[in-house]
Amino acid sequence: MKEISIDRVEPSDYDVIVAGSGAGGLLSALGLSAEGRRVLILEKENHLGGVWYGYHVNGYRVDHGLHVITRVKRGAFARYLTKYLNPPPRFVLHEGWYFQVYDKVGTIPSSIGQTLRWPLTGMRGRLALVKIGAKIKTMRLDEMRKHKDESFLEFMKSRGATNQVMLDVMQSAIYMAAGVPINEASAYEALRTLRDTDKETTRLASLRKLLFGSEEYDEGVAVGGMESLVQRITETINGDYVLNAPVESIVESEGQVSTIAALDTEIPHPRVVSNIPLSVMPRIVDSEQAGVNQFFEKWSHMRPTRGITLWLGLDKVVIGDLKSRVIVCPRPNRWLVSLSSFDPSCAPEGKELVAIAMMFIEGKTVDEQVQMMKGNGLTESYPDILNHIEMEHVQVSYATRAALIPGQTALDRPGPRTPVKGLYIVGTDTAGEGVGLQQAANSADGVIAAIKADAQF
Ligand SMILES: Cc1cc2nc3c(=O)[nH]c(=O)nc-3n(C[C@H](O)[C@H](O)[C@H](O)COP(=O)(O)OP(=O)(O)OC[C@H]3O[C@@H](n4cnc5c(N)ncnc54)[C@H](O)[C@@H]3O)c2cc1C
Repeated sequence: MKEISIDRVEPSDYDVIVAGSGAGGLLSALGLSAEGRRVLILEKENHLGGVWYGYHVNGYRVDHGLHVITRVKRGAFARYLTKYLNPPPRFVLHEGWYFQVYDKVGTIPSSIGQTLRWPLTGMRGRLALVKIGAKIKTMRLDEMRKHKDESFLEFMKSRGATNQVMLDVMQSAIYMAAGVPINEASAYEALRTLRDTDKETTRLASLRKLLFGSEEYDEGVAVGGMESLVQRITETINGDYVLNAPVESIVESEGQVSTIAALDTEIPHPRVVSNIPLSVMPRIVDSEQAGVNQFFEKWSHMRPTRGITLWLGLDKVVIGDLKSRVIVCPRPNRWLVSLSSFDPSCAPEGKELVAIAMMFIEGKTVDEQVQMMKGNGLTESYPDILNHIEMEHVQVSYATRAALIPGQTALDRPGPRTPVKGLYIVGTDTAGEGVGLQQAANSADGVIAAIKADAQF
């Protein structure tokens, strides 16, 4: 794919126009290219990838957000990379999640035996965890679906699972995925997230794992970072892109998409994939039909998740391991990873790049939150760490466009079709299971299938 200016766009050169180049837009374009289609991407910002990209700060290569990708061996996102990129990107798997409760550290127990030895709580808590853990790991998806409009905390309480340490650990795990605390997260999505730490696809396999455990994780960091993933995808897509080109309108005429406009240029085209957040779409879609306007108004309320990431470049290696640590107590929900331990190319030789992430706390300033992230949870484990900082960089951003709350679960979200023929929607606020990049990939799958089914091209 190459960059062009808007005055060079020849609409008949393209089978599909993609508005917005976030993960959903790029993966749709990648899949369509593999089907032999040519695409044009119109992107508002001066880079491709949306919230999924990387860049350099004082000799360190940072990602936009701490990305440890869940499922790098299977699932829709991995399929896009392994099927369409040659050679496929490399991932370094982490050693697992390490939850720190005061001075104790424990992983997510994957078997009954491990649960009974779990160091984070006493025997009563462990027995409660065995009971609820067995229930969750062997629960069928259709059973989980019944709980989509209930909060996870309500679900746990209704089953007598009230051990505080267990709830705190689950809160930390689910917070990162759902973007909200467990009293708001949809029980269906939380249950699915907890089950997804399990790689097994059958109930029998889950049961076997429950009994015998497993040390394997399907989660890792991309070698080359997000920058290299986005760049490799961009190189593989068949088509062109225009940067700094905010789409101003997508026009419906007689039930069909007719024109897309950016930079005062109208581009007539019958097939548009929109990766623009649904919250913005009522201002973009130009239609006289009440049904069309109601559809986009209805979904304009989607509530995003918001995160804050602190990148620290250290003048020597202080942490240096492949763990993914979540600090649960005394100060909750801080996630800490030494990125350069996975991929040394992101830091100058002999130095270390560390990322700390947490959900953004509304009502507190960015500076206050940075101080929280540097706070005791960190220095208790690494007393000297703050003396070795030579680069410090903060990012605040939405991570996904629909928090996993009732009304916004995978079962509720709209798409890939809209009431306008030829206009499809993709992204983390549209139909498709999972969170983050998996969700974007699943939604891209939906768009490609719908275009193929509807296509007369
Ligand atoms: C802090 C952070 C940490 C994360 N960690 C992980 C992780 O560990 N694992 C994981 O799987 N995922 C993670 N993610 C999530 C993942 O990166 C995102 O969920 C995903 O990339 C969002 O994809 P999207 O398709 O919804 O697109 P978005 O990123 O929302 O992209 C939308 C695109 O549309 C463009 N646009 C908007 N309006 C217009 C317009 N009018 N005209 C043209 N273009 C427009 C935007 O500029 C953007 O490029 C993280 C994200 C962040 C920010």
